[in-house]
Amino acid sequence: MKVHHADIVISAVDKKQYPETDIPEIALAGRSNVGKSSFINTLLERKNLARTSSKPGKTQTLNFYLIENSFHFVDVPGYGYAKVSKTERAKWGKMIETYLTQRSQLRAVISLIDVRHAPSKEDVQMYEFLKYYDIPVIVVATKADKIPRGKWNKHESMIKKSLNFDGNDHFILFSSETKQGKEQAWSVIEAYLEL
Ligand code: GDP
Repeated sequence: MKVHHADIVISAVDKKQYPETDIPEIALAGRSNVGKSSFINTLLERKNLARTSSKPGKTQTLNFYLIENSFHFVDVPGYGYAKVSKTERAKWGKMIETYLTQRSQLRAVISLIDVRHAPSKEDVQMYEFLKYYDIPVIVVATKADKIPRGKWNKHESMIKKSLNFDGNDHFILFSSETKQGKEQAWSVIEAYLEL
């Protein structure tokens, strides 16, 4: 997909703030620093729509981006910051849970995982949570350019095994450096959006 229009609509915390439309949504989740902003910017061919490496401690919000007037990308704040307090973490959890379990137009969640490492405890918990609620997942394994091509298969198997990966979900090797996986990501997203 070639994107001509992409704008942030709202940064929401409360359900009341979600955009009052019924257009389809795809959410994006992952550990801080996994490459989520870079992934969004690569897909949208923007340099800086989704801020890269947003710092911890900032207000944690769900950022709704309206794309081509036809769907939303919903950027879920990154998890896994050691410095975040227990209270903050609990608030984050509640906000995400409300969104993921109550937003009827949510079509799939893109779960970003660094291809170099075994999924973190939070990555596994997120995947299990999504599977428990029957939400389709697109696993995007980021930073593929950082490991040699010959090791891709081994890393893919390792990640799938740790997640207890559901064969109905999708797995995409991705790099925002080389743009590898960009077309595949769009075709999977478009299929979920039924555009
Ligand atoms: P976010 O916190 O998940 O939004 O992560 P960012 O998109 O800000 O990326 C975190 C860091 O990883 C930045 O320094 C990026 O330049 C780098 N990065 C992100 N994606 C890739 C990738 O595909 N390849 C490489 N080599 N670096 C990446």
